[in-house]
Amino acid sequence: VMLLCFCLAIIISLLIHHWLQASSSLYFNMRQALERKEFKAYFQPIMNAREGYCSGIEVLTRWCHPTDGTVSPDIFIPLAEKSGLIIPLTQQLMRDVASIISTTPVSWRHELHVAFNITALHLASRQIVEDSKVFLSVVQGKRIKLILELTERQFIDVNDTTLGVLKELKALDIGVAMDDFGTGYSGLSYLNKMNIDTIKLDQSFVAMIEKGNTAKIIVDVVINLASQLDIEVVAEGVENTYQQNYLLSKNVQYQQGYLFARPMPMLSFSCWWQAENTH
Ligand code: C2E
Ligand code: CA
Ligand code: CA
Ligand code: CA
Repeated sequence: VMLLCFCLAIIISLLIHHWLQASSSLYFNMRQALERKEFKAYFQPIMNAREGYCSGIEVLTRWCHPTDGTVSPDIFIPLAEKSGLIIPLTQQLMRDVASIISTTPVSWRHELHVAFNITALHLASRQIVEDSKVFLSVVQGKRIKLILELTERQFIDVNDTTLGVLKELKALDIGVAMDDFGTGYSGLSYLNKMNIDTIKLDQSFVAMIEKGNTAKIIVDVVINLASQLDIEVVAEGVENTYQQNYLLSKNVQYQQGYLFARPMPMLSFSCWWQAENTH
């Protein structure tokens, strides 16, 4: 038994060592990638599905690696969050998107919402207020409303600093959306304390729409709750017209998903936009 324990301990420590090495080299690679500007903004349209126009875009990051191809955020965002690298990464993203918007010759009829995913760490640092101000000053005159999406998957310490930050954001007319709503930490108390304007109904709920009546009731309850609290709902992961129409019947007009468009790099997004706005 002693020998077995000994061997087990060695195996475990080797595994931990290997894992640490792998994650620290990933960290090193990410820092380098940031300097080399390998993180690119992708854009996914958010539609007003009732009136059929693009009311906003969500900015999603992709790591365009020179040899590994396009790396999904599910791989690198968790490490970026753990290491704090998420803050410079988000700042770079916000600067890039602001400069793309400010130099585009395209105009739009409605105020366009531009949403970024913000980590709890960034919100707690007050830096987010400064970063948002920079973004707004660059896109000035372009009819843009900045939206910050905070995920419910992370614990947000709603203390005086956070509340102060949220107040400053409100004063700048920046919208705050609760992302992945229904999947994480007590969404209800957050909604109340943080003065949230929008919730993003998680795609797992949207997928429930076709799964029979009991599942549907849960979706309905969330939508009704939001409407009673006067909170806007954006549905995520809308993949078919059945979901689209069901959501519309519940007055959820803002929808995002593969049914409309996937996240796209800038060039594809411009082509998509042109096609959308020329018929
Ligand atoms: P999220 O914020 O919930 O973003 C929505 C995810 O759903 C995106 O995955 C999007 O590509 C995907 N999606 C959109 N429509 C559909 C659909 O109809 N069906 C399905 N199955 N999926 C759909 P993506 O781009 O891989 O991003 C994954 C997550 O990584 C995001 O989830 C977000 O939490 C995080 N993330 C991405 N970019 C950033 C970033 O710049 N900063 C931070 N902090 N997190 C980010
Ligand atoms: Ca999001
Ligand atoms: Ca989400
Ligand atoms: Ca999600």
